[in-house]
Amino acid sequence: MTAATPPPEPSRDAVPSKDREARPAALPRQTAALPRRTEARPRRKATRRAPRRRPDAKALGNATRTWDALRAAYPDARCALDHATPFQLLAATVLSAQCTDARVNKVTPALFAALPTPAAMAAAPIETIEALVRTTGFFRNKAKNLKAAAQRITDVFHGEVPSGMDDLLTLPGVARKTANVVRGTAFGQADGVVVDTHVFRLAHRLGWSKGKTPVHVERDLMALFPREAWIDLSHVLIHHGRRICAARKPRCGECPVRTSCPSALA
Ligand code: SF4
Repeated sequence: MTAATPPPEPSRDAVPSKDREARPAALPRQTAALPRRTEARPRRKATRRAPRRRPDAKALGNATRTWDALRAAYPDARCALDHATPFQLLAATVLSAQCTDARVNKVTPALFAALPTPAAMAAAPIETIEALVRTTGFFRNKAKNLKAAAQRITDVFHGEVPSGMDDLLTLPGVARKTANVVRGTAFGQADGVVVDTHVFRLAHRLGWSKGKTPVHVERDLMALFPREAWIDLSHVLIHHGRRICAARKPRCGECPVRTSCPSALA
């Protein structure tokens, strides 16, 4: 049986001349080259990014009043880590990760007496540094970072802790929070607000942020307060968090900002 021959494809010439004429004769090259859509694509749902809202005037006014009251209550609020030089502050801040400032302050006098400069710490055997910082937890990693940071400060920065954010971030064990602490406290330069566990908690309780991460809280605080306040802001909030607004049992009855705090317990 002979297979049926399929009907020939209609050639271009077979298109009725009327239709051919209906085509635009002089479409611009670019338009003509665009691929044709054969079917309507489903519309993508617009994913809206939450815009960074500037705080309104009322929120700014409330935050400023509360901040003024807190600052007046803690005029001597300072960095809680004992230090005498930028290098000591850097080392103490590295040690304070996952450790209380009180514990760090117990460890650093012996550490700084034995290894007072970046050159001395860089030259010390790692076992010596480990033994000196053992009680701060994660001591092997902290000792390794301290030694490597001291080495880099000695080799690259002529024995002086650099003040620039970019330079600080090149030091082993130094992330943005540590760099902010060193720049703010040792050099008086504010790039952001240091958000530790106390600042994070207080920012939420005072209604200054709903951020879920320290970075988001930092951004909210930077939008609420002028740059001149950023360094003191974290010192004051840390003091208030330690003395009055503790995580488990805030002592709202003694709090200087209880009348304006949205989380005040009756
Ligand atoms: S009123 Fe209470 S919750 Fe609010 S800041 Fe003071 S201690 Fe904390």
